[in-house]
Amino acid sequence: MGCTTGCRGISAPAPGAPPPPSSSLTLGSAEFFFLSHILTPLSGCNCSRSILEPADIGSKWLQANDLQKEVYQHLAYYVPKIYCRGPNPAPQREDLLAQHVLLGPMEWYLCGEDPAFGFPKLEQANKPSHLCGRVFKVGEPTYSCRDCAVDPTCVLCMECFLGSIHREHRYRMTTSGGGGFCDCGDTEAWKEGPYCQKHELNTSETAEEEDPLVHLPEDMVVRAYNIFAITFKYAVDILTWEKENELPGLEMIEKSDTYYCMLFNDEVHTYEQVIYTLQKAVNCTQKEAIGFATTVDRDGRRSVRYGDFQYCDQAKSVIVRNTSRQTKPLKVQVMHSSIVAHQSFGLKLLTWLGSVIGYSDGLRRILCQVGLQEGPDGENSSLVDKLMLYDSKLWKGARNVYHQLFMSSLLMDLKYKKLFAIRFARNYERLQSDFMKDDHDREFSIADLSIQIFTVPSLARMLITEENLMTTIIKTFMDHLRHRDIQGRFQFERYTALQAFKFRRVQSLIVDLKYVLISKPTEWSDDLRHKFLEGFDAFLELLKCMQGMDPITRQVGQHIEMEPEWEAAFTLQMKLTLVISMMQDWCALDEKVLIEAYKKCLTVLMQCHSGFTDGEQPIVLSMCGHSVETIRYCVSQEKVSIHLPVSRLLAGLHVLLSKTEVAYKFPELLPLSELSPPMLIEHPLRCLVLCAQVHAGMWRRNGFSLVNQIYYYHNVKCRREMFDKDIVMLQTGVSMMDPNHFLMIMLSRFELYQIFSTPDYGKRFSTENTNKDVVQQNNTLIEEMLYLIIMIVGERFSPGIGQVNATDEIKREIIHQLSIRPMAHSELVKALPEDENRETGMESVIEEVACFKKPGLTGRGLYELKPECARNFNLYFYHFSRAEQSKAEEAQRKLKRQNREDTALPPPALPPFCPLFASLVNILQSDVMLCIMGTILQWAVEHNGYAWSESMLQRVLHLLGMALQEEKQHLENLSEENVVTFTFTQKISRPGEAPNNSPSILAMLETLQNAPHLEVHKDMIRWILKTFNTIKKLRESSSTSPVAETEGNIMEESSRDKDKAERKRKAEIARLRREKIMAQMSEMQRHFINENKELFQQTLEELDTSTSGVHENSPVISDAKLTALGPEQTRVAEHRQVVMCILCQEEQEVKVDSRAMVLAAFIQRSTVLSKNRNKTTPDPEKYDPLFMHPDLSCGTHTGSCGHIMHAHCWQRYFDAVQAKEQRRQQRLRVHTSYDVENGEFLCPLCECLSNTVIPLLPPPRVLFNRSVCFLNVLNKCNSGNSEKMDQLQLPEGFRPDFKPKNPYSESIKEMLTTFGTATYKVGLKVHPNEEDPRVPIMCWGSCAYTIQTIERILADEDKPLFGHLPCRQDDCLTSLTRFAAAHWTVSSLPAVQAHFCTLLASLVPNEKNGNLPCILDIDMFHLLVSLVLSFPAIHCQDFSGVSLGTGDLHLFHLVTMAHIIQILLTSSTEENGMDQENTNSEEEVAVLTLYKFLCQCTGSALKEISSGWHLWRNLKAGIMPFLRCSALFFHYLNGVPAPSEIQVNGTNQFEHLCSYLSLPNNLTCLFQENSEILNTLIESWCSNSEVKRYLEGKRRAISYARESNKLIDLPDDYSCLINQASNFSCPKSGGDKSRAPTLCLVCGTMLCSQSYCCQTELEGEDVGACTAHTYTCGSGVGIFLRVRECQVLFLAGKTKGCFYPPPYLDDYGETDQGLRRGNPLHLCKERFKKIQKLWQQHSITEEIGHAQEANQTLVGIDWQHL
Ligand SMILES: [Zn+2]
Ligand SMILES: [Zn+2]
Ligand SMILES: [Zn+2]
Ligand SMILES: [Zn+2]
Ligand SMILES: [Zn+2]
Ligand SMILES: [Zn+2]
Ligand SMILES: [Zn+2]
Repeated sequence: MGCTTGCRGISAPAPGAPPPPSSSLTLGSAEFFFLSHILTPLSGCNCSRSILEPADIGSKWLQANDLQKEVYQHLAYYVPKIYCRGPNPAPQREDLLAQHVLLGPMEWYLCGEDPAFGFPKLEQANKPSHLCGRVFKVGEPTYSCRDCAVDPTCVLCMECFLGSIHREHRYRMTTSGGGGFCDCGDTEAWKEGPYCQKHELNTSETAEEEDPLVHLPEDMVVRAYNIFAITFKYAVDILTWEKENELPGLEMIEKSDTYYCMLFNDEVHTYEQVIYTLQKAVNCTQKEAIGFATTVDRDGRRSVRYGDFQYCDQAKSVIVRNTSRQTKPLKVQVMHSSIVAHQSFGLKLLTWLGSVIGYSDGLRRILCQVGLQEGPDGENSSLVDKLMLYDSKLWKGARNVYHQLFMSSLLMDLKYKKLFAIRFARNYERLQSDFMKDDHDREFSIADLSIQIFTVPSLARMLITEENLMTTIIKTFMDHLRHRDIQGRFQFERYTALQAFKFRRVQSLIVDLKYVLISKPTEWSDDLRHKFLEGFDAFLELLKCMQGMDPITRQVGQHIEMEPEWEAAFTLQMKLTLVISMMQDWCALDEKVLIEAYKKCLTVLMQCHSGFTDGEQPIVLSMCGHSVETIRYCVSQEKVSIHLPVSRLLAGLHVLLSKTEVAYKFPELLPLSELSPPMLIEHPLRCLVLCAQVHAGMWRRNGFSLVNQIYYYHNVKCRREMFDKDIVMLQTGVSMMDPNHFLMIMLSRFELYQIFSTPDYGKRFSTENTNKDVVQQNNTLIEEMLYLIIMIVGERFSPGIGQVNATDEIKREIIHQLSIRPMAHSELVKALPEDENRETGMESVIEEVACFKKPGLTGRGLYELKPECARNFNLYFYHFSRAEQSKAEEAQRKLKRQNREDTALPPPALPPFCPLFASLVNILQSDVMLCIMGTILQWAVEHNGYAWSESMLQRVLHLLGMALQEEKQHLENLSEENVVTFTFTQKISRPGEAPNNSPSILAMLETLQNAPHLEVHKDMIRWILKTFNTIKKLRESSSTSPVAETEGNIMEESSRDKDKAERKRKAEIARLRREKIMAQMSEMQRHFINENKELFQQTLEELDTSTSGVHENSPVISDAKLTALGPEQTRVAEHRQVVMCILCQEEQEVKVDSRAMVLAAFIQRSTVLSKNRNKTTPDPEKYDPLFMHPDLSCGTHTGSCGHIMHAHCWQRYFDAVQAKEQRRQQRLRVHTSYDVENGEFLCPLCECLSNTVIPLLPPPRVLFNRSVCFLNVLNKCNSGNSEKMDQLQLPEGFRPDFKPKNPYSESIKEMLTTFGTATYKVGLKVHPNEEDPRVPIMCWGSCAYTIQTIERILADEDKPLFGHLPCRQDDCLTSLTRFAAAHWTVSSLPAVQAHFCTLLASLVPNEKNGNLPCILDIDMFHLLVSLVLSFPAIHCQDFSGVSLGTGDLHLFHLVTMAHIIQILLTSSTEENGMDQENTNSEEEVAVLTLYKFLCQCTGSALKEISSGWHLWRNLKAGIMPFLRCSALFFHYLNGVPAPSEIQVNGTNQFEHLCSYLSLPNNLTCLFQENSEILNTLIESWCSNSEVKRYLEGKRRAISYARESNKLIDLPDDYSCLINQASNFSCPKSGGDKSRAPTLCLVCGTMLCSQSYCCQTELEGEDVGACTAHTYTCGSGVGIFLRVRECQVLFLAGKTKGCFYPPPYLDDYGETDQGLRRGNPLHLCKERFKKIQKLWQQHSITEEIGHAQEANQTLVGIDWQHL
């Protein structure tokens, strides 16, 4: 199936793993019943018990004459009785019975005794292998050492890796796709440290290769041989059996009419197609169909119907009919049940063999021997051969089982590995052909074993020399690509789908070739030379078929009708790139081979070019007194191809030759005489001209296919064997011919010969009324040609061309990449070519050229070019794309300006050429070159018309610079006997000869220096003139004066330049400043925010701190003691609050009677503070939220972005959003990041997700305050709730009939209701109902919960309580608290009064309020907030004169005392440990007294504690969070500024808090004031039955202080997580590996995400494991780590989600999402903290919203299925 959702991989026990329970296993009663009744024994004997005992059968077999017959009879009888007994498989029962009846006897026979004793004995006698050989499970981490692994396919399992030396090396980590095994102990796989600690131990014992059979007793060897031969043959026969009604060598005991309809897997049909078809064909439910499909996908086949033949056949025809319409039908077969049964057992036997040989190396060798023994039919008749050759016909499950057996037997035995390798190589062609026809992925094919065999260097070498493997692979490859054109070249045009599919498969052969070549020989035998060159011949044949393929002709007039096929050819080229390089590497190792290969390659190239000049008239070109003969050819008119692999291979070999010693000493010995330089350069030159013409726009009508080809030609993936080699070929050509001839041919191919050879052509070309396009085209072509010359002369950084080493080359690449901009490690890697070991060689040199800058909290680490490397910068570096070139130019000029240098970017000094290429430099001083340069300078001087461009001039200047550098270096390295033949300076000082008499180049430069139109090039011209003078000085080393003079001039000029540069710099700064101001001004525009999110956030925060600072400092209340509440409360001057609406920009004052202003807000349920994640959510309709449990299991959090709007402006905005969304959804059915139907919208300014608004209010308390006697109320409330108030004796001054007047304007009242209802709706997950009496409770709760979360964040970050909140949070808390305090005015008065009474009754009990929670089960801060905020509802009817403030204070004291008792009751103080100071302070004495009283009340059930010091310390710590929350609460409620002491961290925070809160420092004093009443209260709290149960240890309670919740601890090394995940199996589908194991970062649960198996139903929808988990763990919000992808996943609700960068970074400060690069990853604590903070701040949903707005594709993902 194409869509694979199931888990792959098989879990057979690894060798050395504990043995499975063998015959000693006990049968359950059900199985025994089955055994004795259904399995009637074999004919004759009636005593069923004994014959079925494994021991008895085993001993019978031991005496048998014809063992095979006995065993076969046994199997023939019992196998069909045990296996496949009906429509539903029962694998566990089958296994149990098979073990007892079938395998048990075999084990007995093998051991000759009870295997329970036999096997351990074997194991003990065994010398364990020093090979690990652990077969990888899917998803298991594997490690490869980049320093020591012979190739990247050598890997270690985690255990071996951790015990190896490679741990300290540079390593790469990947997750296994299943299959493959650990190479620990394989000395050929590692250059160093082949053994881990564990496997090293084993090597010391087995020093020499010894025959493992010596450890086995002789009779055991015989028995093993017998039983292995019989069982292995049985298994192979039955698995490869093709007849329907017969069995191999087995009689059918009874032929029943029972059949299976067997469905087979293919890779064509999708899951959905199969499920749909099955439902139709066999009448099953969707669930069953999914089950069938999953098994078919995993195992390769599954019976879908059981019954008589007709019944099954009918299902088969329905399936075939239903799936045959578009594609080939699904494979279905009706099979007799006994065949299926024997096949099942056959597989079981193979697994059994695999586990038995795990006991002993000897047994393993016997099995190998049995498997490879040739059968009676000769060649290919061994069991192993039979299986291999039948591979493509077997189903997936069977293949997996026998591949695994091969891996644990043949590949683990060094002797037989070799023999097996030979069998594999001999069958190679056949196996590959089978694989081409097979439609299974390669990982399921035996062909895939090539990686295990060919990558072993000794095997590969042996197979090349003995089995001619290289040639075999290449020939097989060629055989499968038969489509050729008339010239015999590959042709991919008009490929059918099937051919394309085959083409994809055939590419794996190239991979095999790569494996064979990956380890290079250290010494060559004649045989190896011979066979390698034979392979090289075959390879040349292959390249010959590619030379000139996909030729193209320029399209003129009309655009091409159809884009030609080009990808196949490029795919081939790309795949072969590494192989071509490796072929060259091999050749480079042996001079004989190299020269032979060079000759062969040349011969083939000549063959390709035969007919090169046929039928063409040669033409003669002449210029500057030189003339050359060439062919007539125009790239723009004739066929041209980009594919020239033979030419390029020759170029590569030529460079290698140049590196040899011979080339230095006796170049005449090299086979160079046969070369014809013009022929060599012809095709590469055409290709480069094509690129230039495409760039000049001449090939526009040829469409995108050509553009793409040109792109890949230069791309890092291909260029090494394409573009680079073409340059090399031109360099080779120039070095062997007269440079004037070369240049003329080049001019001719560029179609520019006319322009430069005809003296006046230039003028005509510019003034004549020529087509502007043509002139433009020619200009571009001239530029390109000059660029090409620059490259030919300048690119000498490959060893062999220039005198450099390999690191110089890579250094240069890095320097040029970093000249563009600083880059991250991974970017650099991507820009550099990788070798066959996936290495760029970058690490070894990067330190020399760059500095690493660590990343911050976001972003990644960057490499920056070292300043001293900038002088190596070459503007015309050949690997720059045009865009990169201009970026680099800009960056480098800017750098120079910053350093106040001149901005010339002269060519860097270059290394000298190798001897073979040395003559190449003469091209610079050749006559034709000087003529070209002179002509262009002349154009520039004349400054006329179009025939001239600045880029042209720039290139000429660069070339001049290069020539001068060259001459300077020649002079500097001058040795005695050498004469400098490079005399460029002389040549450019000479004026042109007649007839044109042009001025000298030097003179023209001097003219240009002052040309006003060439301002930008002045620095460069000046540099050239300066260098010219230096050289002159060098030449005339005796003369002195004139040079100094000029230099003086230059100095002066350069100082003038500096002034100019300085002015420019200042202007630049001014411009930047202006831009910044502009940016700040446009802050109000949402566009800006979108584009510069980070920057915006920063400015926002800056603004926040600045404004809030002003805000806090403004009320000047000097030294006076500040008190937040009570009658002593500090009076605060009221100040007007004027705010601006972000929508209409109008300002307005916040007043009770004006139009409402609102803040955008987001309400969400939260479990961030939860101390109990397992709590089941109660029915929301009946749930009473009045009391919050101290486990805080679910709260309601309110957040806001702090942006203010008019209520009516917001209303209008929201209506518009709603209308727009409705229209959009109807039309497009698209999702948005927010759910309008649920009241969600984005803040119009910052696009923050919101779902309601909070009204802004003036301080509410001032409005309600009147003097009232509090205690009276208190007393009265104790005796009844308000509804019955009228029947009671009312306290004096209390007027229940008084209805307070609501002070708020209609608009504000409306908003109070809106926000209240929203809190209720979201907090309880119910439908909105503004009348519900629970609305005010939810509002108070949200206020309390939000304050608690903020207090926790501040405490965790160790920040002081006040003065450090960002403005938006400060505003949010102010509004939220004021709102909650005012909300009662829009609720039902009696309901609020009733709430108050119930709340109070929890502390001041009375009989009427039974069933209230005990004080252990109340969160005291929630209680405090609710009490204080509901109190005004009572107070407003009380006219006795006591103030509201007094009431607050009393309530606060009461709750504080309750909390103290709560803390003391639940404290888990341990007296030992801590050093206590012997102070016996007042506080300590008092708290001890209180504790003793508590002990009394609880009947001494409380732990005895005698240390007052400990108690006091504990109490202080326990109550701190409550006091801090209370301080925040009263601060926001009453607006009293916080004393400066609690705005900073410092000592005595506790005392300052107490003072601010009007509490005595010694909290226990509270109890002493009203000791009588309070003692009664304490007694009543302690006598509660729940409290008693707690004290008796029958229940638990939360103790204080509650610790802050954190995300789970993550390991430092990411591979620990991968390993953990690879051991995790899906909890629902019995032991299968989970495909997407995902870790909840909140609670640490591992989940099986994104798969059918773990979907559950949630609110009527199928959701994935993650979404389901968020509902229990995070009330809808979740933070996960997808372990395989190394990606953090945020989820909110069912529709919202986004991915977030993981907190794991590699050493280069980069994340690796998707684990593609495999660098070791380590936890970045700061980034993890940032994620944790997002969670604690309740910003996950907001983060998702921003991510989805920024990236619309995130909106379309079905997050609920994760
Ligand atoms: Zn291992
Ligand atoms: Zn090991
Ligand atoms: Zn290593
Ligand atoms: Zn407005
Ligand atoms: Zn906003
Ligand atoms: Zn699952
Ligand atoms: Zn969780």
